[in-house]
Amino acid sequence: MKPMKPVFEEISEQLNAVKHGIQIIAVTKQVGVERTKEAIRAGICHLGENRPEGLSQKLEAIDESVSWHYIGNLQTRKVKDVINEIDYLHSLDRSSLAKEIQKRASNQVKCFVQVNVSGEESKSGIAPNETIDFIKSLEIYDKIQVVGLMTMAPNTTDELAIREAFKGLKSLQLQVSEKQWTHAPCTECSMGMSNDYLIAAQEGASFVRIGTALVGAESEAKR
Ligand SMILES: *Cc1c(COP(=O)(O)O)cnc(C)c1O
Repeated sequence: MKPMKPVFEEISEQLNAVKHGIQIIAVTKQVGVERTKEAIRAGICHLGENRPEGLSQKLEAIDESVSWHYIGNLQTRKVKDVINEIDYLHSLDRSSLAKEIQKRASNQVKCFVQVNVSGEESKSGIAPNETIDFIKSLEIYDKIQVVGLMTMAPNTTDELAIREAFKGLKSLQLQVSEKQWTHAPCTECSMGMSNDYLIAAQEGASFVRIGTALVGAESEAKR
């Protein structure tokens, strides 16, 4: 494994050259507790996990005050285990999930609505043309604050297609924020991963979610 600090500094510099203030979420789903602690020592203060088990493993071992992001599909029956442990949920994508959050959250939760901008069938997320109505419908839930939108780029090396998806998310985010809904300030865009974080930054990301290019990936046995 490469020492993390120089990698973190290099990615930070690359992002800063595009725009200041982009938050880097280190996605630690493929590494263990030690590597996660190294990330914190390197100065990383946003951590992302995509499974309830991975999240609770890290929470148990880590006392430092960092922000926890849940970035994966969240099953409705798992909401109760996760929702009061995290600072941000990046995968709000259906009414049944919103309803369960309302029922289980003890405080208001900062949520990103996940949008399937590319329309790939394998991807979760709300269709772009249903996003505004969906967000409007969330106003009845006082435990949900829509801080922004999240998307995953299409599975392709076609940079133009990736860029189009990010542009699409940014434009939707602006449409929502213009409504000035109290329950949905929607000022943030969560987009960009190891292979496309620079494109995401150029298209207006405020949070990038980086796993392998930053913290790496360990074998199952080591975790
Ligand atoms: C795993 C994951 C990432 C990070 O992916 P890398 O390609 O390793 O950077 C980002 N976002 C989500 C939703 C993920 O599941």
